[in-house]
Amino acid sequence: EPSLSGDFSIIMEWADEIRRMKVRANAETPLDARTARKFGAEGIGLCRTEHMFFNDERILAMREMILSDKEEQRRMALAKLLPMQRADFIELFEIMAGLPVTIRLLDPPLHEFLPKTEEEINEVAQAMGVSADKLKERTEELHEFNPMLGNRGCRLAISYPEIAEMQARAIFEAAVAAAKSTGQPVIPEVMVPLVGVASELTYVKKIIDDVAKEVLAESGAELDYLVGTMIELPRAALTADTIAKEAEFFSFGTNDLTQTTFGISRDDAGPFLETYRKKGVIEQDPFISLDVDGVGALVKIAAEKGRSTREGIKLGICGEHGGDPASISFCETVGLDYVSCSPFRVPIARLSAAQAACRNK
Ligand code: PEP
Ligand code: MG
Repeated sequence: EPSLSGDFSIIMEWADEIRRMKVRANAETPLDARTARKFGAEGIGLCRTEHMFFNDERILAMREMILSDKEEQRRMALAKLLPMQRADFIELFEIMAGLPVTIRLLDPPLHEFLPKTEEEINEVAQAMGVSADKLKERTEELHEFNPMLGNRGCRLAISYPEIAEMQARAIFEAAVAAAKSTGQPVIPEVMVPLVGVASELTYVKKIIDDVAKEVLAESGAELDYLVGTMIELPRAALTADTIAKEAEFFSFGTNDLTQTTFGISRDDAGPFLETYRKKGVIEQDPFISLDVDGVGALVKIAAEKGRSTREGIKLGICGEHGGDPASISFCETVGLDYVSCSPFRVPIARLSAAQAACRNK
């Protein structure tokens, strides 16, 4: 297993004395969380829960949930998923032992959860007790031409509130259990993705708060938690003062914010951006190094607007840029509280954050 040692770890300690921003990791598996801690991560800044549903057993239950038109069947599918999610979160909370953990509600492009092959359709149809033809029809109804701009993020939580309920319950029950097993307070940060309009967050936050009340009443335990949102759409950045009325923290999703600000698909950008670079039309791939003039301007606006409503609102970044030295330097100038990056980038981020703090003095 990787770890830092010798002179390198001494240099990292010096960097830690200088830096102001915290460094967290994007992690959803126990291995990633352990690696992140070994590299010095001070929490999880993004747990992408959609990655937890792709094994055979879980995806079948998720497909039943999404494709069934019977409430009872949807509830049963979620009842299968709840204990698995709870166990996922308990493990993460235990590994992070009192450090902050931000868990994002499900954010897949919907099509990633739909059955694709004949075999998959037959399997789900059988599990649901419907004909393959009927299931195929339902799957086709849900087909999207542009899934990255489709039913994902908080839109999914509004279309299928039961999923958000299940996840919120799993998070809070896990927090109560992990606080007991570790003897450390666990304060989960529940993050709502792809909010563009404050009322979306109001809708989803109510689901989260209602579940928290229920879990509190059932367990008799104390439970502190934060509800916040990603800022990853230009509209969210421009209306961040209104969104901050509901959000206790913002995390900048600069992958989607770059995609939506440039109007360039993050999945298709590679080849032509490379051509642009070769021809000198752009210097940097904006998906790798933050575009300070455009995307960065939106980050600044959102930070200012967020602070104008909620002084000291916790601000972080969890897009790929959170592990890029030049982008980290920009984050320091905006005064973000933390950057979050992939576990193997944590040492680079610690050094870059220190360098940025020196430069900004
Ligand atoms: C982002 O959009 O920057 C982000 C962190 O979320 P994801 O990459 O999962 O869309
Ligand atoms: Mg995103």
